[in-house]
Amino acid sequence: MVISFSVKEARDQLLNEGVVCTFRWNKRKQTGKDWANSGRLTKKICDVHIEEIKRIETVTDLNPYVSKSGFKTKKEWLDVIMSMKLPKHGLAGWLYKVTIRYPENCTLCGQPFTKNKDGGRILCPYPPQHYLCFPCLKQSIDSGIGRLNKILATGNLDLSIEEIADTIKPEPIKPEPIKPNQIRTDQK
Ligand SMILES: [Zn+2]
Repeated sequence: MVISFSVKEARDQLLNEGVVCTFRWNKRKQTGKDWANSGRLTKKICDVHIEEIKRIETVTDLNPYVSKSGFKTKKEWLDVIMSMKLPKHGLAGWLYKVTIRYPENCTLCGQPFTKNKDGGRILCPYPPQHYLCFPCLKQSIDSGIGRLNKILATGNLDLSIEEIADTIKPEPIKPEPIKPNQIRTDQK
């Protein structure tokens, strides 16, 4: 069951910091693994994990969570909350912590992410939809810049931001066919 972020401030908070505290008038039937979009019937923006923080009964209950709401002040947050109130809603709502769930494997080559010395996975975000391992990031940047240089070398210096982004975006790496002598024999 999708969770929608139609309010830009909350959506940006989630996408930029990987976590947002979000107020909902209705209690969710489902928490845990889920996905997020930016409004009804729009496409996925990321996979998320949803956790119920608490039932909100007074506006002061929101105080500890303003810094993760995406809003600069509690007043701005409350104004948006109240603008979405329907007559059937009482005073109470629920507060949820929504965290981005990152992919288990590099979205380009499909290999597990390498780990740093503390065991943390090294994910290189490549907007808008990729999380790359470091070798893929390096390769993508090198080949993307290469493609861009070729276009610039033709004298076409009039590229829009969108055209540049489209030129340098990562290309899926085709898996190399496995040759018989590459099949590992050290795994049973
Ligand atoms: Zn990779």
